[in-house]
Amino acid sequence: MDSTPAKLEMFYEGKAKKLYTTSDPDLIVQYFKDDATAFNAQKRGTIEEKGVVNNRMSELFFTLLEREGVQTHFVRRLDDREMLCRRLEIIPVETVVRNIVAGSLAKRLGRQEGEELKHPFVEYYYKSDPLGDPLIYPEHAIAFGWATEQDLNTIHEMALRINGILRRFLDARDVILVDFKLEFGRHHGKILLGDEICPDTCRFWDKATRQKLDKDRFRRDLGGVEEAYHEMLRRVEH
Ligand code: UDP
Repeated sequence: MDSTPAKLEMFYEGKAKKLYTTSDPDLIVQYFKDDATAFNAQKRGTIEEKGVVNNRMSELFFTLLEREGVQTHFVRRLDDREMLCRRLEIIPVETVVRNIVAGSLAKRLGRQEGEELKHPFVEYYYKSDPLGDPLIYPEHAIAFGWATEQDLNTIHEMALRINGILRRFLDARDVILVDFKLEFGRHHGKILLGDEICPDTCRFWDKATRQKLDKDRFRRDLGGVEEAYHEMLRRVEH
């Protein structure tokens, strides 16, 4: 295995993660915090051990995706809270894939949470805290120069492929993948999947009971937040 580059300075601190440069300009360290926010950071709190669960779960999902031929920023997990990743130039678009109606889709279109969709689809949101991540058309991303048409075609194709892989994997563990958010970036001209895949960024429901095993427990004050994160990790590890 290659030697681990030295962790240098923090260059970004977000709501759930900190990013550090390393002695290798192509690599960064992603540190997972326990801080949790919801509703565009109007609600704040901490979820004990969340950083540890999200780091490990992201490792497992990225490893699965890489095995299936999806290119990601993941290099390897370093310890409980840190992961070594390829440095990306992040595209400021959040890509959401939906299989079942929930969250902002239910609200925006007046649909019942839990309604099955005829087929999965992809939505794009502009990554902007001051604007509260508004829904956009892909044309906006192209017109403002955030991504090219070709980039968006690649992202769309990757997002649906990732959905298929994750759905199958989770179905075998009695989990329904309701929806999830992805972030992509460029690395030496290639589009790679970045960020994290965990209960903060996905909706996971138990197949039999439809019990929520994700951040909605925190968003909606349902209790049992830590237990849900650990239960999801247990299922993904087995
Ligand atoms: N999501 C996310 N970060 C965001 C917004 C959404 O990770 O800033 C995830 C969320 O966990 C869910 C999916 O994207 O799995 C769709 O979220 P939705 O648009 O329904 O927004 P929400 O109601 O969760 O704010």
